[in-house]
Amino acid sequence: MRIEKAEKLGLCFGVRRAITLLREAVREHGEIETLGPVAHNRLLVETLAGLGVRSIESPDRARGRTLAITTHGTTPGVLAEMGARGIHVIDTTCPIVRKAQNAARELAEAGFAVIIFGQADHSEVKGLLGYTGDRGMAALSIGQLDDWERIPSRLGILSQTTQTRSAFTGFAGELVSTVGPKTREMRIVNTLCEVTQAQQDAAMRLARRSQVMIVIGGRYSANARHLVEICAPLVETHLVETAEELDTSWFSGKEHVGVTAGASTPDEAVDALMARLESL
Ligand code: SF4
Repeated sequence: MRIEKAEKLGLCFGVRRAITLLREAVREHGEIETLGPVAHNRLLVETLAGLGVRSIESPDRARGRTLAITTHGTTPGVLAEMGARGIHVIDTTCPIVRKAQNAARELAEAGFAVIIFGQADHSEVKGLLGYTGDRGMAALSIGQLDDWERIPSRLGILSQTTQTRSAFTGFAGELVSTVGPKTREMRIVNTLCEVTQAQQDAAMRLARRSQVMIVIGGRYSANARHLVEICAPLVETHLVETAEELDTSWFSGKEHVGVTAGASTPDEAVDALMARLESL
């Protein structure tokens, strides 16, 4: 059985950067809290918990004097609240998410209504909406926008950073053809994460030549789920959080196994998966 890793996979620079900042913060401030999990990966959250990084659900749960914002970012309102309460903020917002926040703010300030292609309950999307003031709306399909009272004259469109390129272009294209003629101006800003796009492209190429694909990543990780969505139409695909979840029956009669990993999957988890696969 040949086991092949995707050319690009696993922990992205944004999450690596956040881990480094959090380690430094723990050394300086002792135990710290993060607003939401550092990334949607249980192993990573557990490893950081061992170092003294604890996740809280909302700012009012903050017990310490230091609170870290995760790679997904947050709203300007939360940052202002922290400032007013005198809480020291360690901001690990990924620079790519920051660019998307800036795009959302600039569109809103220029008078555009802003449509964010993304999951409305995802922390990154909530943060992006915060940067649009009251001019934003999040949706994953045009159908979710039906409750528009009237089509705005100027419309901006951007994306949650980890969405797939094809899904975003499909959504934006449909908006242009259905709503576009009723607007005066439409502006589409490409806020997709290039790291995620490169991983998705590599996963697609590998899925085309594999007989089964294994995606390792958190079940609630948006980018791990997108890797599954990309591979599954091409080949049998399984999402696992740990190497122990591998089922030997998946590999019966298979000669070529492809492996990819979400952008928040720790290197150790990928290594453990490869070791278990090689032992089969
Ligand atoms: S997946 Fe992309 S946007 Fe998200 S943290 Fe990693 S580099 Fe940043």
